[in-house]
Amino acid sequence: MEEAEKTFENEQYRKTYWHTCSHILAQALKRLYPDVKLAIGPSIDEGFYYDVDLSGSFTQENLKEVEKEMRKICKENNQLERFALSREEAKELMADQPYKLELIEGIPEGDEISFYRQGDFTDLCAGPHLETTKQVNGSGLKLTSCTGAYWRGDEHNKMLTRIYGVAFPTKDELDAFIAAKEEAKRRDHNKIGRELEYFTTVDYIGQGLPIILPKGARVIQTLQRWVEDLEQRRGYLLTKTPFMAKRELYKISGHWDHYLNGMFVLGDPDDEKSECFALRPMTCPFQYQVYLNRERSYRDLPMRFNETSTLFRNEDSGEMHGLIRVRQFTISEGHLVIRPDQLEQEFKGCLDLAKHILDTVGLLDRCTFRFSQWDPANPNNKYEGTPEQWEAAQSSMAKILDDLGVDYTVGIDEAAFYGPKLDIQFRNVYGKEDTIVTIQIDMLLAERFGMVYTGDDGEKKTPYIIHRTSLGCYERTLAYLLETYAGALPTWLAPEQVRVLSIKDSVVDYAQGVVDKLGAMGIRVESDFSSNTLGYKIRNGQKEKVPYMVIIGEKDMENNTISIRYRNGEDLGAMSFEEFASLVKGVVDSKEKK
Ligand SMILES: [Zn+2]
Ligand SMILES: [Zn+2]
Repeated sequence: MEEAEKTFENEQYRKTYWHTCSHILAQALKRLYPDVKLAIGPSIDEGFYYDVDLSGSFTQENLKEVEKEMRKICKENNQLERFALSREEAKELMADQPYKLELIEGIPEGDEISFYRQGDFTDLCAGPHLETTKQVNGSGLKLTSCTGAYWRGDEHNKMLTRIYGVAFPTKDELDAFIAAKEEAKRRDHNKIGRELEYFTTVDYIGQGLPIILPKGARVIQTLQRWVEDLEQRRGYLLTKTPFMAKRELYKISGHWDHYLNGMFVLGDPDDEKSECFALRPMTCPFQYQVYLNRERSYRDLPMRFNETSTLFRNEDSGEMHGLIRVRQFTISEGHLVIRPDQLEQEFKGCLDLAKHILDTVGLLDRCTFRFSQWDPANPNNKYEGTPEQWEAAQSSMAKILDDLGVDYTVGIDEAAFYGPKLDIQFRNVYGKEDTIVTIQIDMLLAERFGMVYTGDDGEKKTPYIIHRTSLGCYERTLAYLLETYAGALPTWLAPEQVRVLSIKDSVVDYAQGVVDKLGAMGIRVESDFSSNTLGYKIRNGQKEKVPYMVIIGEKDMENNTISIRYRNGEDLGAMSFEEFASLVKGVVDSKEKK
């Protein structure tokens, strides 16, 4: 590696650094627990680990002691020296290390068997490593956790102890990393979404099938009504189509050939004699039937169809994550059937709408754009259509994106099987990226379904189709909103916008009147007239991130006022009911991000 590349920004250097740390960890363990049996110790995306077999118990407490020993080793300036041995010599050297012996057995004949020595410690390893242990800064190093892990990931094997660590060139960088981790945990929707009762999961219902609780359902309903209204104003035609269809439909659409593994099939897919259904993974082939319901002419186009559509995808259970990766979800689905000359304008319309929606909910700033293309080197069985069709679709999409000034990255082999996509990407609190909105150009499926229009010359022509979402998957968006706002959703989206608190029982009737009036205005209002102290009630409201708390005491009742407190602790003082009502209504109607 060149000297200039030896920075932490360089992934290879970072991995080398972390892998060296795992050797230092093993050396420290060997000194403190001479009987330890070592398994494997790789670098990972964020740091490193070592799987070890310790005879006694090993807990978080022991990590501190090991960490201390590691810092000592860093200061020792042990050179890492590489040497190779024959298989027999290697086995002899590792005679007391059963896992290493197994690894040596597994090295293919003819491959070199290499070791690294650092001071009093030698490990079987292919490298590469830093030159000396001193290049690792002990004060930037931390062992983060330990868990159980089966040898070779196989549950039939022995459970080993996996010790995780991370390291940075300076202590400041380590501290920043730890702070960022804690902040991510604080915002993680999978944690706060459950704590704040937006959703839950139930083992016997299944993974990736979340139960959306009343609060979550209210937010999704608010988003959905808003999105459907926006679409209606933009000339979309609402459809409502079945959740499942016979396999014959998916054979025409190509999903049977290209997406069978991703679908939930009802019936035996191999038994051609009896009916076989599948839950829909997309709405496209259903919505096309609306177009096909009668003959269309060039004057009818563009036709924009939308549907709040529930879809089913049989994702790997290992992929499931809270509300972000699920098996059943609801999206703002839509398909535009257009003439080729309308492509640019309609694509722009889709992008405008998606950007407006993402901007309003406060997610656009952190979105990135990816132009997902096919892989010309691997066209077979994954993609439909000819290279010429793909070239044409991709070059017109590139032109549109360039004309619109969209700043995008290119993703090769990320396209849908029928065409290229613009994916709007978002990262969760842990940095994992997923698609939030997608807009796709399709020059193939209309032909498969026999969709045509009569041109101005009287000839039958094949339209283009744009597949698009305007908010993507509601469950996923809810997750991103919870993480972005750390649970304190903007007032217009908050499931409970106002909570009315009584200071004394004597004011309850007056307070109930306030609740009723706010409710009648369409404000989502709840009350807490319990006998708990006011401080306790306020803390509860703040913990549950309710935007406004209306506090009512005897003085308020005498003066015919109410006292308002915002969830961040800000005291807005006493005001008339009308003043407060217009304040809340203003914040809700303008969709302010507070
Ligand atoms: Zn190594
Ligand atoms: Zn579609």
